[in-house]
Amino acid sequence: MTRYRRWQFSRFFQILKRRLMPDKLEAGQMVSRRRLMSSSQEMCRPPWSSERSIRAGCTSCGDCISACPEGILVPGPAKTPVVNFLHGECTFCAACVNVCEEDVFASTSTTPWSLTARLEASCLLNSGVACRLCTDVCEPEALKFDLRAGTVGAVHVKQDACTGCGACVGTCPVSAITLSSFNAHSLEPTE
Ligand code: SF4
Ligand code: SF4
Ligand code: SF4
Repeated sequence: MTRYRRWQFSRFFQILKRRLMPDKLEAGQMVSRRRLMSSSQEMCRPPWSSERSIRAGCTSCGDCISACPEGILVPGPAKTPVVNFLHGECTFCAACVNVCEEDVFASTSTTPWSLTARLEASCLLNSGVACRLCTDVCEPEALKFDLRAGTVGAVHVKQDACTGCGACVGTCPVSAITLSSFNAHSLEPTE
């Protein structure tokens, strides 16, 4: 995270605390970013893999986890890899694919996954708090800010532009963004 982004977060939380929790601030209580975030993200397998391919071929060697330069792959069930978007975004570098010696990943010439972002009702804009942190980090410009909606605007997801990179997920201070799959490529049931 750049110094500017850190400053943006710090500034944002100062404003958020003032707007949402004046009583707690008066009592001198601190509100951390960690506390405001929940861990509600669904389990997601690495790009170009699926629950089925992981179960069939993964040996839990951990090579893909070590290879991910973004640090978003973490050990999941039986130490098989899952994505934690609170650690960062997927850049689709394919390092995880290239390091794997088993038959787990599909060709990188195919679509890595079918994840797209979804905004939950807990978005701060629905509470009248001005925020557009997620739109600032979305490089494909899949998050569109509509100034005319609501009292302070609204964010809409352009599903066809969203790559499911997850950059927006960890940016949202209230965990209002989740990634979901329309064809269950990476989010097949675990049992
Ligand atoms: S494609 Fe790159 S950034 Fe994405 S999970 Fe694999 S190693 Fe990590
Ligand atoms: S997942 Fe990536 S592309 Fe999709 S809305 Fe979030 S930042 Fe934009
Ligand atoms: S989804 Fe999160 S980051 Fe985006 S505008 Fe709403 S509160 Fe802000």
